[in-house]
Amino acid sequence: MSRTDLAYATVTELAAGLAAGQFSALELADERLARIAATQPVLNAFVSVDPDGARAAAKAADAARAKGEAGALTGIPIAHKDLFMAEGLRTTCSSKMLEHFVAPYDAHVVTALKQAGTVLLGKTAMDEFAMGSSTETSFFGLVRNPWQLDAVPGGSSGGAAVAVAAGLVPAATGSDTGGSIRQPSSFCGVTGIKPTYGICSRHGMVAFASSLDQAGPMARSAEDCALLLTAMAGHDARDATSLPHPKEDYRREIAEPMSQKPLEGIRIGLPDVFFGDGVDAPVVAAVEAALTELRALGAVTVPVALPNIGYSVPVYHVLGPAEASSNLSCFDGVRYGHRAAQYTDLLDMYKKTRAEGFGDEVKRRILIGTYVLSHGYYDAYYLKAQKVRRLIAEDYQAAFTQCDVILGPTVPTTAPLLGAQMQDPIKMYLNDIFTIGANLAGIPAMSVPCGFTSGGLPGSLPIGMQLQGPYFSEARLLNIAHRFQQATDWHQRTPKG
Ligand code: GLN
Repeated sequence: MSRTDLAYATVTELAAGLAAGQFSALELADERLARIAATQPVLNAFVSVDPDGARAAAKAADAARAKGEAGALTGIPIAHKDLFMAEGLRTTCSSKMLEHFVAPYDAHVVTALKQAGTVLLGKTAMDEFAMGSSTETSFFGLVRNPWQLDAVPGGSSGGAAVAVAAGLVPAATGSDTGGSIRQPSSFCGVTGIKPTYGICSRHGMVAFASSLDQAGPMARSAEDCALLLTAMAGHDARDATSLPHPKEDYRREIAEPMSQKPLEGIRIGLPDVFFGDGVDAPVVAAVEAALTELRALGAVTVPVALPNIGYSVPVYHVLGPAEASSNLSCFDGVRYGHRAAQYTDLLDMYKKTRAEGFGDEVKRRILIGTYVLSHGYYDAYYLKAQKVRRLIAEDYQAAFTQCDVILGPTVPTTAPLLGAQMQDPIKMYLNDIFTIGANLAGIPAMSVPCGFTSGGLPGSLPIGMQLQGPYFSEARLLNIAHRFQQATDWHQRTPKG
């Protein structure tokens, strides 16, 4: 493989190269570390890079292979979103509050991928505490979209999406509370899946909104996502919401032989709200073209209704902040992270610490959350939002009696220019209209590259389509995406330079 081929190779291809002895895990890690160093001044995808740890892990992977103990992910370089604790490394959540916080233990997902033999290169940038859609709220500076440097990468897992899209790592972890895996995947032309709530343990993953947060993989193909998810998923008693679900091989449907009509019998539900006003024309066109492709592969499409999905954004912006205001109360200058240098008494210390440590978006959400939980407003806002959340989940249940999966655009637009949304948070919130429903219902959902603006000419931006399915339908979603990716090359395109 040439140097550029190597950079944009998938996990599956790299695993084959490692197995064939074309390169060692150490050579691969060194090549990626050099690419990260070269791109970091422009893209800023990483908050921390760990060359020493990476080389040590790569040597261990090579040694395991020499002993005949290599698995599918042995020696594969990866990066973790900077809200997963990785022992001995900083875990900042891209916040000044945790600027110098060093994780004392590994998150469950970090341990799982370590045990699978992956090589951790570093921690990726995100919106502060995962609150945002553009990675512009990171304390460590903005992150650029490799397809168009003055566009946002999306968020909150923006650094992860950039790292995969720019060939810095073949795969990365992200977290998704309202779309943070799927939306940056869509904006950067990569594949990402948010699994069923409870599939990946949240132990050691810094909480934003605990009833919505889920970890998931982002990679260059659905097959690679399946490989990573297989390693990441599994019951963990340390997270009370971790499901006692048996371990699955998420690649099992992909591994079945390809037939002429591999999607024969699959019913794709199309909610009209996903194709209505407010969706950019190139996005609609790309998703329609993808549907034509999926029909050619044997799938049929049926109309379905999600009558309450229009309430998902307001419901999310009551429940998410409510949970965040509680989760983030531990950042008080006593237990973790930043503490104000000067203060008069304890209360003043709390106030100054939090005023200095948190950015505007985080403060906005803590204020809203505290308000909706306060006496007199709890019933009107928090309780009401919980009831509507249930209605949205029931809409999905009803829809899945008529179809196997639901399809639409991941986001109504392509990546906006840097700075364009920062003055208008409400507009930014509304862009999550298609992704939030899956978090509220707890169902799995993924974003798959399906086209570009201006037909992929230089300067054009990626478009993603979203597949949503019933609980535990990950293997099916990944297989549908895989069959689509075998018939198309959108996921293989690479940004220039
Ligand atoms: N963009 C959404 C928000 O700002 C989703 C974030 C997320 O999924 N972490 O809340």
